[in-house]
Amino acid sequence: MDIDVDIKKIKSKAMSLAEEMTRLRRYIHGRPELSWREFETSRLIAERLEKLGLEDIRLGVGDASVGVIADVVGGQPGPCVALRADIDALAITEEGDLPYKSRNLGAMHACGHDGHIAILLGAAEILSEMKAQLSGRVRFIFQPAEEHGQRSGASGMIREGALEGVSSIAGMHLWSEIPTGKVQWKVGPMMASSDAWKVIFKGKGGHGAMPHLAIDATLAAAGFIFALQTLVSRETDPLETLVASVGKLTAGEVINIIPETAEIIGTIRTFSRAVHESLEERFRRLAEGVAMTYNCRADIRYDGVYPYPVINDAALTRLFKDTAALVVGEKDIQEAPPRLSSEDFSFYQTRIPGCFFFLGAGNEEKKTTTPHHSPRFDIDDDVLPIGAALMSSYACAMLGAGK
Ligand SMILES: [Zn+2]
Ligand SMILES: [Zn+2]
Repeated sequence: MDIDVDIKKIKSKAMSLAEEMTRLRRYIHGRPELSWREFETSRLIAERLEKLGLEDIRLGVGDASVGVIADVVGGQPGPCVALRADIDALAITEEGDLPYKSRNLGAMHACGHDGHIAILLGAAEILSEMKAQLSGRVRFIFQPAEEHGQRSGASGMIREGALEGVSSIAGMHLWSEIPTGKVQWKVGPMMASSDAWKVIFKGKGGHGAMPHLAIDATLAAAGFIFALQTLVSRETDPLETLVASVGKLTAGEVINIIPETAEIIGTIRTFSRAVHESLEERFRRLAEGVAMTYNCRADIRYDGVYPYPVINDAALTRLFKDTAALVVGEKDIQEAPPRLSSEDFSFYQTRIPGCFFFLGAGNEEKKTTTPHHSPRFDIDDDVLPIGAALMSSYACAMLGAGK
């Protein structure tokens, strides 16, 4: 594919921003804010974008004053393409003794979103500087609450009109398991949908020595745990991926009382929108059926937390792969294995074609290979200029391809 983008110029500008991006990333790392509470983070982003001369800056999503949308408007007419970063931190107390460690007790950037912010601000600076040559607009979406699990920041941004007029969108995640600077792409399903469920089986409590006078809810719960796996093994095409896991089981307190209730919670994940569509109905039928078998009642909650898998558009992803090869070199790009973790970037992809990719930030020597969401998580700052160069080059390529 012919990509008419001045990669060399973008890369050298990105390198010149490396120090500033590191400083900024560490500043944000020290001041993490939880989902839907990213007030200072959003303010910092909006101020920076204003300084860079971005247009149509909008601060705040719906009734929450968090999240930022802004445009770099090119000198010539053309399409509008979007770049997205998530900006929230996790409810984790940071361990270790980094000089830029979290000052907010109980909150931590343990997923690399501090890096995502610095990278996208870097891309905003690069693209603002070259806006006279751009044909079209690049929309920057700094999205809150990717980690919230129940109230997605992406769907909030969409309601706010973040995708109005936008023809395609790119997003990325830094990844500690991949060496710094290596890029992973994938056409089609890349990350899974994620549903959360809870079933409370209700029976009748009684004496442990007189089970005939009680209705044992724990037996129904046990039966359900086994039956649940038939959703995977007997009801789903074996060539599709489906995972059903129990996360917690609670019932009773002492040895000689048959508990009245047993509660189970868990998650169900798949890469297929078609499989996902029938899941809730099948799950409810199974839980109700098991409850009836054991003479219990079942209270069921089923929530599509991130109800859509991350599915990358084929043409857009090929364009990304070709662009990335020019930015980091052919040897540093590889096809990603599908992952059953989830991402609310998928909400955008239900509206417009999108491409999500992974960028390695793991460096053994700098101790940045610890898993995401761990209390000693950190990223290798050397990845920041690479990320900014990738994002800006890809935006230019998308504009050029009229996407
Ligand atoms: Zn995370
Ligand atoms: Zn994350």
